[in-house]
Amino acid sequence: MKKFKFCPHCAGLLQTQSNRQVCADATCGYVHYDNPLPVVAAIVELPEGVVLAHNRSWPAKVFSVPTGFVEHQENPQEAVVREVQEELGLAVHSTSLVGVYPFAQQNQIIIAYHMLTNGTVVLGDELDEFKIVPVAKLRGWGFGTGLAVQAWLDAR
Ligand SMILES: [Zn+2]
Repeated sequence: MKKFKFCPHCAGLLQTQSNRQVCADATCGYVHYDNPLPVVAAIVELPEGVVLAHNRSWPAKVFSVPTGFVEHQENPQEAVVREVQEELGLAVHSTSLVGVYPFAQQNQIIIAYHMLTNGTVVLGDELDEFKIVPVAKLRGWGFGTGLAVQAWLDAR
């Protein structure tokens, strides 16, 4: 859990109580719940297969489906379409919800969509490499977006 030193409401000191950060000023009463963040994930299917990409900040050889944060007041489905446009340079033909998956290690909730598209991948700023994996060779993995990939494969 990310630790804050001071209360964002009254600037008082925060104390840890039963695994939560709580404002030391009882009249303030602020509690930092550290709720998971919703993250959209895109299983982008081109005629050749599904796009897996490497984020610049990840270890080498780690690839995943593209993800992104939902912006303030943004519809998750619009967020995933925007992310695919920004990070892969692809316009999407259709979008369908695959499911919602926990990613406790990152304190995230993954909202996964499958989308059909065609065209040429043009990587955005966050990604530096990609590969297109034929659906017959695609496998999920045991956490986060990998659960979504496996669920999508299983449902086909
Ligand atoms: Zn406070």
